[in-house]
Amino acid sequence: MKFSSFGADVYVPDNRPVAEALARTTHLCLAAHQDDIEIMAYHGIAECHGRKDRWFTGVVLTDGSGSPRAGKFAHHTDEQMKAVRRAEQRRAAKLGQYSAVIQLAHPSTVVKSARSAAVHSDLAAILHACPARIVYLHNPADKHDTHVACFLRSLEALRGLPKAKRPKQVLGCEVWRNLDWLVDPDKVLLDDSAQPELAARLIGTFQSQIAGGKRYDRAIAGRRLANATFHTSHATDQASAVTWAMDLTPLVVDEKLAVEKFTRAHLDRLRADVVARLQKFQ
Ligand SMILES: [Zn+2]
Repeated sequence: MKFSSFGADVYVPDNRPVAEALARTTHLCLAAHQDDIEIMAYHGIAECHGRKDRWFTGVVLTDGSGSPRAGKFAHHTDEQMKAVRRAEQRRAAKLGQYSAVIQLAHPSTVVKSARSAAVHSDLAAILHACPARIVYLHNPADKHDTHVACFLRSLEALRGLPKAKRPKQVLGCEVWRNLDWLVDPDKVLLDDSAQPELAARLIGTFQSQIAGGKRYDRAIAGRRLANATFHTSHATDQASAVTWAMDLTPLVVDEKLAVEKFTRAHLDRLRADVVARLQKFQ
């Protein structure tokens, strides 16, 4: 399989042919940067880890060149940084026993362009080869521009699939901006409680990002614990780690459903919930 960027990298940890690795994929994550997969889709990684009947594949759209750098990475050039991040993502795939990880290596400006045929053709080729039943995307209310653009490019590609080949469930997950603000009926609970050591080691793989002064390793564990604890005030915690997701399946089923309208309806339900509770006690 050929991808449009010269720097694209495909890695299959168990050395099976790429076509076979994609064909066995049941859980697929399309993410903007190296480490986003491990932050947003640990649920899928854990569901497939150590299994022969379920396989997780991750796709990273950008080349990782624009990341902040400090410590031993402070003087790395963009090219050196790309190589470090590519290697980190491969290590995470090996540790997580992914079916495959594909790093498409597009500059983020290309991902942000709605007219980028290269991104669309790469994603279309992957989606045609991956019969995943569940797909993890960035969510449309994320506050990182590249994440939102990545979500839009992914949605366009999913909508380009014949209806019968579209995944059964498509989820928008938390990275930059959590989804605790969704009203409870709009929340999809991804239980990340399994194998906490694996979850920690996966995030810990991305030392170049943590060395940049961001303790993602502690922050992600903290967010998952907070999500689990603050989910319901009266029940004991069923899960010890939770990632929230937005159900994006309606956007994939109905290509005429406008993304803005769909997202605004979630915001409107939050506003109605807040206002109704205030009015109840006045
Ligand atoms: Zn990111």
